[in-house]
Amino acid sequence: MTTPSLPKPRPQAVLTVQETSWLSPHLVRVVAGGPGFSELKDNDATDMYAKLLFARPELGLVPPYDLEALAAERSPDEVPVKRTYTIRWMDRQAQRLAIDFVVHGDEGVAGPWAAQARPGDPLVLMGPSGKWSPDPTADWYLFAGDDSALPAIGAGLEALDATARGLAFIEVDSDADVQDLARPEGVQVTWLLRNGAVPGTTRLLPDAVAAATWPLGRVDAFVHGERGAMKALRDVLFTQRGLERGQVSLSGYWAYGRAEDRFQAEKREPIGRILED
Ligand SMILES: Cc1cc2nc3c(=O)[nH]c(=O)nc-3n(C[C@H](O)[C@H](O)[C@H](O)COP(=O)(O)OP(=O)(O)OC[C@H]3O[C@@H](n4cnc5c(N)ncnc54)[C@H](O)[C@@H]3O)c2cc1C
Repeated sequence: MTTPSLPKPRPQAVLTVQETSWLSPHLVRVVAGGPGFSELKDNDATDMYAKLLFARPELGLVPPYDLEALAAERSPDEVPVKRTYTIRWMDRQAQRLAIDFVVHGDEGVAGPWAAQARPGDPLVLMGPSGKWSPDPTADWYLFAGDDSALPAIGAGLEALDATARGLAFIEVDSDADVQDLARPEGVQVTWLLRNGAVPGTTRLLPDAVAAATWPLGRVDAFVHGERGAMKALRDVLFTQRGLERGQVSLSGYWAYGRAEDRFQAEKREPIGRILED
């Protein structure tokens, strides 16, 4: 009898932070690279994202981490946690990539880490994955998302043909978080300001998308952000506007009041589902 083989652990790319820069009061860019770059998978999707691994520094764990052994031997709070982040850009030749982190206060792991990251710090990634790239046959493009999706929307706008048309709705805290995004002239960007309201508690995005005058023709929609807003947008896109599933990339990137571990686990339960499989 043959023993079933265990799935191979996913390779981890151990990179080093090279520089950090604040793009706005709530968004910090971390550029990382180095020889570990060769462990990254190939993926050409525009919304390319990776799982980042964060270990508590006081444990002195050295990456790459043996996650299986750590899970078996250590208490759950001593196992590195996973957080999902868009690769804002990747330069394979220079073996460098950039990730833009929302800094959302003292809660959590990744946001506070990014706010304090310094050149020389390790950054451990698995992946990348990614599914969406602009559909070249679409008549126009719709983007909608909050700060967490701003990096993916920025990459999406840059990936469009120069003649592309579309609408982009981006929710951020205030005017100070507005970025000058490279985009085709035919794409109109509307910034929706929370003006101090707690992220994940407003209807800015669904209301703006519902109220907009949509261009004629077939749309390719890229819509991501806080789960509650995404559920409201699901109703706008499918029920009110009658879009088909195949023309919409829609998901929750985070959920109000939930750390990512819980939020990801909930994706398998009714509360976490935005679209039926
Ligand atoms: C495919 C994908 C791509 C993503 N790309 C990016 C990206 O490029 N940049 C980015 O910043 N995020 C991105 N996210 C979202 C990011 O994974 C989550 O925000 C994650 O929860 C942050 O981890 P944390 O350790 O900082 O906070 P957690 O420990 O997960 O959560 C702690 C608390 O902070 C709250 N919280 C989490 N995120 C936010 C937020 N953005 N604003 C306000 N409160 C928040 C939670 O509700 C919770 O109460 C992406 C998610 C997915 C699925």
